[in-house]
Amino acid sequence: MNRFRNFMYGRYGFDQFTRALIICSLVLSVMMNLTRISWLILIAYVPFIYALYRTFSKDIQRRTHENMAYMRFSGNLRNRFVHLKLYLVGTKSHKYYKCSKCKQLIRVPRNKGRIAITCPKCRNEFIRRT
Ligand SMILES: [Zn+2]
Repeated sequence: MNRFRNFMYGRYGFDQFTRALIICSLVLSVMMNLTRISWLILIAYVPFIYALYRTFSKDIQRRTHENMAYMRFSGNLRNRFVHLKLYLVGTKSHKYYKCSKCKQLIRVPRNKGRIAITCPKCRNEFIRRT
C-alpha cells in the first residue's frame, strides 16, 4: 500500500472525466461485441487507455482543465435535458390533476375555466378549475 502511495505521489488520480471515459469504454466494448467484428473491440480500449493515462499523469494543471471542460460540457447537457423535459411536459400551458379514483395523472390545458375532466383510464368524471 505504501509503494502504491509513493507511486501515486504527484500524479493526478481519479476524477469525473476519468469515470466518464471508463463508462464510455464499457459501453463501447458492449456495442463492439454486438457487431461480431473482432478488431472493433480495439476502439473500446481508446477511452480506457486515455483514462489510465490521465490517472497516472503528472501534468495536474492540464488534467484539471480537462476535467473542468468536461464538467461544463456535461452540465450544459444536463441542463438541456431538464429544459427539454419541461418543454415536453409543458407546465406553463397545462395543469396536472390526479384522478380521485385511480390516481392517474391527467394533463389538461390551462385557462379553460371550470371543466369536467374524464379520466382516460377509469372514466371517472370530476370538475376542476383550470
Ligand atoms: Zn381514474
